[in-house]
Amino acid sequence: MTQPDTTPDGRPALLAFLATQDDDAGCGATRDVLDVYADLILAGLDPAARFPGVAAHLHDCAPCADDLAGLLALA
Ligand SMILES: [Zn+2]
Repeated sequence: MTQPDTTPDGRPALLAFLATQDDDAGCGATRDVLDVYADLILAGLDPAARFPGVAAHLHDCAPCADDLAGLLALA
């Protein structure tokens, strides 16, 4: 699965992709474990230690970060 370019020439998006591809889990994998990730936060544990790729993704992806905030707000 590829990320759509959000810039006209794609170059900044490509550079951002190259900078984060080593550890960014991506939207699909992040959403698969987002409920577990939220549970770890609520349990006072460090979810970034268990899901470093998800932590990296949440840092860069506002929609996924919003989803996590929503899960935490519902808890
Ligand atoms: Zn995402």
